Amino acid sequence: TRESIHYFGAGPAPLPTAVLEEASKVILNYNDSGVGIAEISHRSPEANAILANAKSGLRQLLDIPESEGPDGYEILFLHGGGSGEFSATVYHMVSVWVARQMKQLTESGVEEDKVVEKLREVLEKKMKLDYLVTGSWSLKASQEAARLVGSEHVNIVVDARKHRNGNKFGVIPAEDSWSQTQDETECALTYYCDNETVDGVEFQSTPSGHNLVADMSSNFLSRSINVRKHAAIFSGAQKNIGTTGITIAIISNKLLPPLTEMPDPKIMRKLGLPIGPIVLDWPTIAKNNSLYNTLPIFDVWIASKVMDRLLHSSSGSPRISTQEAESNKKATMLYSALDNSSGVYSVVPDKSVRSRMNICVRVKGGDADAEKAFLKGAESRGLMGLKGHRSVGGVRISNYNAVPVEAAEKLTRYLEEFAKEQQ
Ligand code: PMP
Repeated sequence: TRESIHYFGAGPAPLPTAVLEEASKVILNYNDSGVGIAEISHRSPEANAILANAKSGLRQLLDIPESEGPDGYEILFLHGGGSGEFSATVYHMVSVWVARQMKQLTESGVEEDKVVEKLREVLEKKMKLDYLVTGSWSLKASQEAARLVGSEHVNIVVDARKHRNGNKFGVIPAEDSWSQTQDETECALTYYCDNETVDGVEFQSTPSGHNLVADMSSNFLSRSINVRKHAAIFSGAQKNIGTTGITIAIISNKLLPPLTEMPDPKIMRKLGLPIGPIVLDWPTIAKNNSLYNTLPIFDVWIASKVMDRLLHSSSGSPRISTQEAESNKKATMLYSALDNSSGVYSVVPDKSVRSRMNICVRVKGGDADAEKAFLKGAESRGLMGLKGHRSVGGVRISNYNAVPVEAAEKLTRYLEEFAKEQQ
């Protein structure tokens, strides 16, 4: 039964049982209408209310500025997952870069029929997309950028593997060793993944960089963040906030019309730059209140209920701090059991960058039999979903928001027992 299991999967991940219980009712009959929530129109007043509630919850939790001016941010609900946003980020930030260059050229008196020619020159020499590669997901995002615009435009600011024995992820080298694009007018974006789900590496503070874009798929809503430092932030829903099927993006108004006039697709074609699918187009989704096409309102409802719980579970402000304290408490407990195992366990990343969300571990230095025995023993105690990502192996404890403290305590006890047996 659900009660006898503790699930530590990396995503899809556990959801609060109370939300799922309510979900099982509304899927049959929403608000006593006799119609289920997955059956109502995404353009109905009910759907609009759900969407508005989700947006307002998120604004409160992450302190997202609301103004319509340059300091404000839009909240978008999209399809396509985190991976879809790897591409959307490139399509959009490159368009914005082109728009800014065009404006500058026109203002400096370049004649209209010469603008594209001049743009092509500037583009070839100057456009850079900066990527901080600190794990498998930022690596994938950088590879997508190279596929879309050519590797000559992708500047790998840092490849963390090169800073570690064995050429493996597990560190975030100090900023003074990075090679960032210094000139803001050349830098279309600076991309980082706040928490690397596969490698267990988490940024301890917001990195610097022009036009900062963050993938927060696996630590979204687990701590307070400074939205204002970012051009854009995105997250798939399926770890800390809901069911698989929606992706949330927070975009600075500075990057959206009317503050930025987007270039005509004809110009992009002439420059040989990619034009993304309309369903990934941030300005289109923003203009249509995330309802350009059919949005899975059931998924938005789940996310809004998860956020309601976070908002109401805390008394003081800022409200996300209660969740942050709980996440830290669980992570500290688990890491301390791992560190006090006389070497039975070794945490994969360096201490200074350990993730609070995905705790990556080797048992007896990666001994296959020992890891198998560990996982088998865990499962027999109802501790599920602990196998490491298929690309790296080992053990991974995903400590997302809906993992109860009791689950972390039970796992801690098992870690201690297993270590004792092995010594
Ligand atoms: N970014 C991160 C940090 C992830 O953990 C994942 C998926 N686990 C993705 C992106 C890709 O997400 P999706 O499968 O929704 O495309």
